[in-house]
Amino acid sequence: MIKVTIFNEYAHERLKEDVKAIYPKGIHGQLASFLADDDIEVRTTTLFNEDGSFVPECGLTEEVLKDTDVIIWWGHCHHNDVPDEVADRVVNQILCGMGAIFLHSGHHSKPFKKLMGTTCNLLWRDDEKERLWNINPAHPIMAGIGDYIDLPEEEMYGERFEIPTPDDVLMIGTYGSHEVFRSACTWQRVNGKIFYFQPGHETYPTYHNPEIQRIIKNGVRWAAPTYRAEKLICPHFEKLPF
Ligand code: ZN
Repeated sequence: MIKVTIFNEYAHERLKEDVKAIYPKGIHGQLASFLADDDIEVRTTTLFNEDGSFVPECGLTEEVLKDTDVIIWWGHCHHNDVPDEVADRVVNQILCGMGAIFLHSGHHSKPFKKLMGTTCNLLWRDDEKERLWNINPAHPIMAGIGDYIDLPEEEMYGERFEIPTPDDVLMIGTYGSHEVFRSACTWQRVNGKIFYFQPGHETYPTYHNPEIQRIIKNGVRWAAPTYRAEKLICPHFEKLPF
């Protein structure tokens, strides 16, 4: 069983009617609805409660994270409201081996920026359509995906995306005025597998698209740990007989 924890900011869906109409149970609720499966167990947590108060520690305690195989992260306007202590805890568990999927505006989240070590800046513009080209069909995350996916509505994210060179680039997004973007990228940091996937602006029904759902689900199975350290240490090592 792969244990998934979905973390969502949960601001737009509470406060904006147009977003609430697309995601009445929140983006976390929508992600959970298609991810749960025979081999995937899902729990969700948020930055905000329904009434706008903060969820203590974002619901991401040490205990929860140690019991999580893959964390999924969606955030946008409130990255700075995630306490540093929580972000550090998440990063540490990823380095130990917990898998991580950062969606859309999660490119500016504290854990993602800490893992990348760069600005993670990009170009952006609303009200676009996107064609996502599958440039790595043999990668497990691309299993079952055709040559391209068309999204009639999505936010443009364009290069340059200020990230360290990914281990693999799986998709290139293209938009109306020929911008391009590395829309699906993977990295490994110590033991943890990391997947960044660009689509998912809150005012468009991207997470209702079956192909987008399939990629995120493939991503969960790919990112699940094959090895996980209890903690990361730098020990003195006695010489072995040789
Ligand atoms: Zn967006």
